[in-house]
Amino acid sequence: MTTTSAPVSTLALLLLGQSSDLVSERGVDCPGVLPPASDPDLVERATAAKAALGDSVFILGHHYQRDEVMAFADATGDSFKLARIAAERPDVENIVFCGVHFMAESADILTGPDQRVLLPDLAAGCSMADMAARDQVDRAWATLREAGLSAGTIPVTYMNSSAAIKSFTGEHAGAVCTSSNAAAVMRWAFEQGQRILFLPDQHLGRNTAVRDLGLSLSDCAVYDPRLPDGGLTRSELTDAKVLLWRGHCSVHARFTTDSVAQVRERVPGIQVLVHPECQHDVVLAADFVGSTEFIIATIEAAPAGSSWAIGTELNLVRRLASAHPDKHVTFLDRTVCYCSTMNRIDLPHLVWTLESLVAGRAVNRITVEVETAKWARVALDRMLAMPGPSARD
Ligand code: SF4
Repeated sequence: MTTTSAPVSTLALLLLGQSSDLVSERGVDCPGVLPPASDPDLVERATAAKAALGDSVFILGHHYQRDEVMAFADATGDSFKLARIAAERPDVENIVFCGVHFMAESADILTGPDQRVLLPDLAAGCSMADMAARDQVDRAWATLREAGLSAGTIPVTYMNSSAAIKSFTGEHAGAVCTSSNAAAVMRWAFEQGQRILFLPDQHLGRNTAVRDLGLSLSDCAVYDPRLPDGGLTRSELTDAKVLLWRGHCSVHARFTTDSVAQVRERVPGIQVLVHPECQHDVVLAADFVGSTEFIIATIEAAPAGSSWAIGTELNLVRRLASAHPDKHVTFLDRTVCYCSTMNRIDLPHLVWTLESLVAGRAVNRITVEVETAKWARVALDRMLAMPGPSARD
C-alpha cells in the first residue's frame, strides 16, 4: 500500500488517492488503476435519454445522492420538499425519484393516479424506515389498548417511514412530522392526547421532546418492538409522555461525542453542526442542530474563514465543502460513511431508467395501495394544516 506524500490539512475531506491520513486511513491510495468513477458514455447516454423524454420526465435528487446523479436532477432537496415539488407538477408523466423507497412512496401519495413515480434501484431502501414494520406497530398498539392507554396516545411518525406506517398514523388520529417541524407536531399531539408514540426514529423524538418541548429524559421510554410489551412494564408504559420507537438512522447514529471532542481538539474554534437524527449526547455537544435544509442554509450564511464540522450524510458534506471553498467544511467523523442505500442510485441505474422510458417501458414504478395511500395522506395533510416552520426533512 502506498502511503501519504502531500501534507494533510486537518480539515480536508480526503478523496481516494489524493492524500491520506495515517491515523484514520482516510484517502489511502489504491495500488491499481481505477476506472473513472463514471463512464463518460453514461453521461452522454443519460443526457440523450433525458433530452428525448423532454417534458415527460422530471428528475428529483435528494441531497444525499451522488454528484453524478445530482448532475441530472431537475430539482434537489430533502424528502418532503421533493415530494411537494412532485405534487406541484401534475403535468409531468414520469417522476424519476433519485432517493430512497419511502420518498418515492410519498411522492406517489401526493401525485395524481396517472403520474408514475420511478425509483432507479429498488434496493434503495432506508434502514430506519425498515425498523418499523406495520405488523410490529399494530402489535404495539394492541399492547397499549390492553393497558387502557391507546385512547390517550397520539402517533407521530417521521417522514422517514414507510407508507404503511404513515397510514397507521393517519388511521389513529396522528400526523407526520419532519425534522424541521417535529416540535410543532409534537406540541399539537399533546393537545390531542396525553402521550405520543413517536415512530420510527428514537433520536429525533428524544431530541425534540427534551430540547424543544422541555420534557426530561425520564419522560421518554424506548419501546423495543422485539420484546414483549416493548420491554416496558405497565407503569413504564403509563408514565411515559413519549414512547420512542426503537429505530435509528444508521448514518447519523454513528457520530459520537468522541467525534465532537476530537474535531474540537484538532481544530480550535471549529463549530459543530449536526442533524437531529444524531444521538442525544452528540446533539448536546454540538453548537447547532437542524435539518438538512438548515445545515445548508447555515453554511451558506457562514462568514468566510469560519470552520465547520458537519454530522450528516457524506455526499452532502462533500458538496458543501466544494461549494464553499472560502470556508473550512469537514465531516464530523474521522472515517467516511455514506448512506449505503442512497448510494444504490448511480448513473448506470439512472441511465437504465431513462432509456427504458425512451423505449416505452416504465421500470421500478412505486405505487402505494389505495387504502394505505388514503390514510397516509390524512397523516400528511394533518401536518400540512399545522402552523409553524415549513415542513422540511
Ligand atoms: S441517511 Fe439514514 S434516514 Fe436517510 S435514507 Fe439513509 S438510513 Fe435512511
